[in-house]
Amino acid sequence: KKDEVLEANFIKSTKSGRVEWEDNVGYFIKKKLRVWCPLANGKWESGKIQSTSGDEAFVSLSNGNVVKVSTGELLPSNPDILEGVDDLIQLSFLNEPSVIHNLKYRYSQDTIYSKAGPVLIAVNPFKDVQIYGNKFVTAYRQKLMDNPHVYAIADTAYKEMMGDGVNQSIIISGESGAGKTETAKFAMQYLAAIGGGSDGIEHEILKTNCILEAFGNAKTSRNDNSSRFGKLIEIHFSTLGKICGAKIQTFLLEKSRVVQLTTVERSYHIFYQLCAGAPSLLKETLNLKTASEYNYLNQSDCLTIDGVDDAKKFHKLMEALDVVQICKEDKEHMFAMLAAVLWLGNISFQVINNENHVEVQADEAVTSTAKLIGCSAEELMLSLSTCKIQAGKDSIAKRLTLQQAIDSRDALAKFIYGNLFDWLGEQINKSLGVGKQCTGRSISILDIYGFESFKKNSFEQFCINYANERLQQHFNRHLFKLEQEEYELDGVDWTKVEFEDNEECLSLIEKKPLGILSLLDEESNFPKASDLTFANKLKQHLNANSCFKGERGRAFCVRHYAGEGQLFKLMHQLENTTPHFIRCIKPNSKQLPGIYEEDLVLQQLRCCGVLEVVRISRAGYPTRMTHQEFAGRYGFLLSENHVPRDPLSISVAVLQQFNVLPEMYQVGYTKLYLRSGQAGALEDRRKQVL
Ligand code: ADP
Ligand code: MG
Repeated sequence: KKDEVLEANFIKSTKSGRVEWEDNVGYFIKKKLRVWCPLANGKWESGKIQSTSGDEAFVSLSNGNVVKVSTGELLPSNPDILEGVDDLIQLSFLNEPSVIHNLKYRYSQDTIYSKAGPVLIAVNPFKDVQIYGNKFVTAYRQKLMDNPHVYAIADTAYKEMMGDGVNQSIIISGESGAGKTETAKFAMQYLAAIGGGSDGIEHEILKTNCILEAFGNAKTSRNDNSSRFGKLIEIHFSTLGKICGAKIQTFLLEKSRVVQLTTVERSYHIFYQLCAGAPSLLKETLNLKTASEYNYLNQSDCLTIDGVDDAKKFHKLMEALDVVQICKEDKEHMFAMLAAVLWLGNISFQVINNENHVEVQADEAVTSTAKLIGCSAEELMLSLSTCKIQAGKDSIAKRLTLQQAIDSRDALAKFIYGNLFDWLGEQINKSLGVGKQCTGRSISILDIYGFESFKKNSFEQFCINYANERLQQHFNRHLFKLEQEEYELDGVDWTKVEFEDNEECLSLIEKKPLGILSLLDEESNFPKASDLTFANKLKQHLNANSCFKGERGRAFCVRHYAGEGQLFKLMHQLENTTPHFIRCIKPNSKQLPGIYEEDLVLQQLRCCGVLEVVRISRAGYPTRMTHQEFAGRYGFLLSENHVPRDPLSISVAVLQQFNVLPEMYQVGYTKLYLRSGQAGALEDRRKQVL
């Protein structure tokens, strides 16, 4: 009798998504169910409780060992039948080891995609998996397949755009090397396949990847083809759902990479491609040498990437430039600017005896650079060794110190490259121009590199991390806040789920006048400002903010920050779309297939709040319709006898007639809220009748 009660309680508690684990330890022992047992190394091992005494349990692990653990430290493991479920929402026990194990099990079967409620999780396979291409596009299009996939996400976005006429966005996030850019490409590939028209614009869109990657991607220690810029691509559709144009916005290009590299990393692919692949005539015009002869490239002792043929890539790039209609002269100018950047890096300075300033070494580097950028060698030498300062009404030239001269040379190289990159973006957009037949319907795909933290973090990392904070806020707002606020407003009985909020961190950065950005702006106007004065200022004003750690004395490279409105505009643009989130996970830091490092995965799941999303989705009511919508859709299923009139009564009558259990729905002031799975059954009945 007691067992029956236990069992009934147990089943009841799992159904509602919450488990009073303490009460169920006895049940687990009796039924020989598995539990997760914490090991000394921080990992979890699955085992069975053999016996308990007081608060302690003896657990036999799968390797045969028996360990003594306090019952409070054990976590319930899911029954075998739930091994490798598609959606983490289906797990009876939602704890970290169960989630990690579920993803690991799927990964071992090459099932790289899973759902976490509304979020798609993509675990990088680091190898080709046979789940892409036309066959799979068709299967997802015709709903022959519906297991989690980036194609399914793209399909949902497309359907919702066509059906509701609301713009959509696919927001892809994750650490460097997690697979964001590849995932974005697969999403684009799907949309190109289903929205391809007669004019072939979809091929042009796909070709832009190759161009942007040549100029904006580089080999880093974490990813051989790491995007060093953020990208938002808007794909526009006609009334008939055909692609009619596209627009690409790029932001936060890492310019420092042009002049400064760490070991095992490379500069942008284009430099190596140009040196390796340029035809001899072009080489002659640009006075081009091999990559190893340029200081900007040879400083890192990494000039090639395993398995990548830079010369071949150059030819592919040339084809792609033709596809987006970049003309011959423009191409020539573009290559001249690239060569100018390379030659700039070879310009050296001589410190004049006993004086604290420099002269430029008059050599091949200077003459080549000057020729390429279109000025005389003398002009270039003068501008690289002096600066103009204002003295009263006149401006006078002051000679630079060695460090200042090096900095201004590097600044020029970064400036040229940054402008070239922006220009390229404009040219691509001209060619993809949003046509007249476009209806204004669009799907945007956002691929932005994730949070970065190095030993020495510069202003660039600061901007990247700020952008990510903003994205995280967008994610939080949509998946936690808005959802919970809606329940509360509509009078739904609801236990609030706590989640990590990043408002304080955002306010630390952007609050006016006392946020890091404002203080940085202010400090850069003081002639005597230094890293130290800035750090002190931050400590003085921001110590109270819990997201600020003054003692670490962060150094900022002070530059004018043009990237800020960009970001706001971007977020504003995304606010007006229905978002679909994809979280990419890097299963190991070796970039190798078949290796799943549990702690690395857990850390990524934790920092992006995936578990909280699952918790909310499962405890929540993902299907919701207004009383009118619900009554309109299912009211006709009611047996004729005494049909009520008002939408609310009709809705409740439908729920009763089909025996939907009270814990499976909630009636709000304006809407009906159904737990996951409930709408499916009603839809089936509806289809049978229609
Ligand atoms: P991120 O943009 O997040 O830095 P990438 O998209 O560049 O990462 O992916 C890094 C590498 O991982 C790719 O170059 C590719 O080798 C591999 N990769 C990522 N996603 C997939 C996938 N779905 N299938 C096969 N390989 C992948
Ligand atoms: Mg990338």
